[in-house]
Amino acid sequence: MRALCWEGINDLRVQEVPDPTMVNPHDVVVKVGLTTTCGSDLHFIDGYIPTMREGDVIGHEFMGEVVDVGREVKKVQRGDRVVVPSFICCGSCWYCKHDQWSLCDTTNPNAQLQEPVLGYPTAGIYGYTHAFGGYAGSHANFIRVPHADVDCFKVPEGLTDEQALFLSDAAPTGYMGADFCNIQRGDTIAVWGAGGVGQMALQGARALGAERVIAIDRFPERLKLARDKAQAETINYETEDVVETLKELTGGRGPDACIDAVGMEAHGPGLEYAYDRVKQALHLHTDRADALRQAILAVRKGGTLSILGVYGLMDKFPLGVIMNKGLTVRTAQQHGQKYMARLFEHVQRGEMDPSCLATHQFSLEDSPRAYEMFKKKEDGLIRAVFKPN
Ligand SMILES: [Zn+2]
Ligand SMILES: [Zn+2]
Repeated sequence: MRALCWEGINDLRVQEVPDPTMVNPHDVVVKVGLTTTCGSDLHFIDGYIPTMREGDVIGHEFMGEVVDVGREVKKVQRGDRVVVPSFICCGSCWYCKHDQWSLCDTTNPNAQLQEPVLGYPTAGIYGYTHAFGGYAGSHANFIRVPHADVDCFKVPEGLTDEQALFLSDAAPTGYMGADFCNIQRGDTIAVWGAGGVGQMALQGARALGAERVIAIDRFPERLKLARDKAQAETINYETEDVVETLKELTGGRGPDACIDAVGMEAHGPGLEYAYDRVKQALHLHTDRADALRQAILAVRKGGTLSILGVYGLMDKFPLGVIMNKGLTVRTAQQHGQKYMARLFEHVQRGEMDPSCLATHQFSLEDSPRAYEMFKKKEDGLIRAVFKPN
């Protein structure tokens, strides 16, 4: 089959690779319908997160059709149209049983690469380095899905393929960020970053009952999308003082919760410590660190900070401010399996529309060029979508 492979730092190529095969009886093989770029891919494409190997198939957000079914699979059948969360989960360990899906204890066969840094390993992810399990990714004609009964979700009638696609990662990540805010009637939620995850956080906060949502970004087309799709108020951080403007907009009190979705969807929690990339990482994360500091300052006293990024290397993290203001900090990698049923309902009721993220379509053969555009955020691109078959 054809697949997009990592062949070295900043070297992506579409090439011939072997078809996936069943490894255990709980597997299925999915013919990829749609698959999309993710900001977190950029972290290993440029070598910031190590443990990629030449020839690795990348991509971790996808939907498609089940074409081969293992003999122990009970809930999924050939021909089913399914969406699959990015984290691979067993459904039976302590973490899965406690709805902490991205922390699944059993699906990362390379746990020893994470333990020196994290203490305990995360779940495996499709197409996302050997430290995260070394699983083949979704930018391909076909993909193997382990634990199919747990990880394949049949897409209800009425949802388009594009709407379903983003329920793989962008939508559950943003929605979880909003869920962390414990939104009460009358709340105002501010979201830093209006890319894929930020848009989903804005729409998710609305769906969960926020009275006002405020989007902070520097790209006019992203701010427009936030206004159009989430009825957001918007702040361009290049032309406005973010903290002062938020104060004004909230009668001097500040937003009830602040969600950080800048430079987002990063699935690499602090692995860089182990590889002495401190200087490089600090450089790369300047924007994001600024956003988090702004959020900590801007949020009202006793409010919530919902962090969806990677902060392993942030310097001058203002813990004292968090303590003195009595803030609650919530953060995690997305627990997609927990949120899927709710997300289907929000989309069916028209309360969220993830398909608005699909600003650009490319063929799989053209996917290296798509990643170049995605990296540079050219032409208002939020997410590049590939249709491999
Ligand atoms: Zn992603
Ligand atoms: Zn598990």
